[in-house]
Amino acid sequence: MKFVDEFRDPQKARILLQEIEGLVKRIPVCRDRPIWIMEVCGGHTHTIFRYGLNKMLPKEVEFIHGPGCPVCVLPRGRVDDCIALAERDEVIMTTFGDAMRVTGLKKNLLQAKAEGADVRMVYSPLDALNLARLNPEREVVFFGLGFETTMPSTALTLLQAREEGINNFSIFCNHITIIPTIKAILDSPDLQLDGFLGPGHVSMVIGTKPYSFIAEYYRKPITIAGFEPLDILQSVWMVLKQLAEGRCEVENQYTRIVPPDGNMQALQAIQEVFELREFFEWRGLGSIDHSGVRVREEFSAFDAERKFPLPNLKIADPTSCQCGEVLKGVIKPSQCKVFGTTCTPQNPLGALMVSTEGACAAYYNYGWIPEEDLHPAKSPV
Ligand code: SF4
Repeated sequence: MKFVDEFRDPQKARILLQEIEGLVKRIPVCRDRPIWIMEVCGGHTHTIFRYGLNKMLPKEVEFIHGPGCPVCVLPRGRVDDCIALAERDEVIMTTFGDAMRVTGLKKNLLQAKAEGADVRMVYSPLDALNLARLNPEREVVFFGLGFETTMPSTALTLLQAREEGINNFSIFCNHITIIPTIKAILDSPDLQLDGFLGPGHVSMVIGTKPYSFIAEYYRKPITIAGFEPLDILQSVWMVLKQLAEGRCEVENQYTRIVPPDGNMQALQAIQEVFELREFFEWRGLGSIDHSGVRVREEFSAFDAERKFPLPNLKIADPTSCQCGEVLKGVIKPSQCKVFGTTCTPQNPLGALMVSTEGACAAYYNYGWIPEEDLHPAKSPV
């Protein structure tokens, strides 16, 4: 298939759905409970709800929405650190659009901008570097966040800044890594999963091999999935086929983008610029060992955390916020007490309502509040 409409072909979707129904009948666990498949990536969550794939699939297949939206898992303390940086007179804070709406203890970057902070939306870290070139009397800070998908562009920009000797540019690094996070989910005692849809964009960088521990050690099937509706349906079919045949393997549905070894150039840039932190705090999931990166010592002149003092406070989520339970798949977004009332995309209380890739925003935007979500027969707890 070459064109986008081929990935949305209703006839092919019908054939896949028939195949899926046949597979479900062959999986013994379906007699007692649904099959729980976690889509790790927020992009998959968005596709599932946008195209109503969860409504099309048999009731025995249930999605658990994973932590793969980097904006959603950013803890409030880090947002406040970023706002403190943005409020410094000499700083121009630059970031992607979604990150401007994540709220810290009292406000978000958009509100800080309304109060006078110089906050600018950019489409890439290179835009931020260009601002540094154009404003040599100011300090330009890039709010770097995201998984391995966005890490290479931050790393390459920093290498470019060093090459050009641009000393008024730095990054506030909040990049996170996917593998320790999946491991933490699998080690979570209150979560039971049957298989995974693996993240397509991250895998384009890291390849398929780092996931082998999921199949070999945890005995769960995983299929790296693309983002079109037929990609998701085919990936679900591949996971179910493994379950029906009693196999646990890493399979790659997204072969048109994801090579087994990943992107060596991108991995080298990441390796050169970043090193693992001992631990990193995740909203709703707590501290996860080696799940974030920081700028290496040799690039400290470009590290905003070393260049400027930060409040560095830990701030708990509001008590009514149930983002952590949603992120672990313990409840569905529509089962949160404040879903659609005090928490909406216009006025998000929790981070999962901020980004379009957040599970709560997807439920809200596509009107997906099914009867069985409000009154579930069983849950994966
Ligand atoms: S509805 Fe809001 S508070 Fe509740 S889990 Fe979703 S984002 Fe968090």
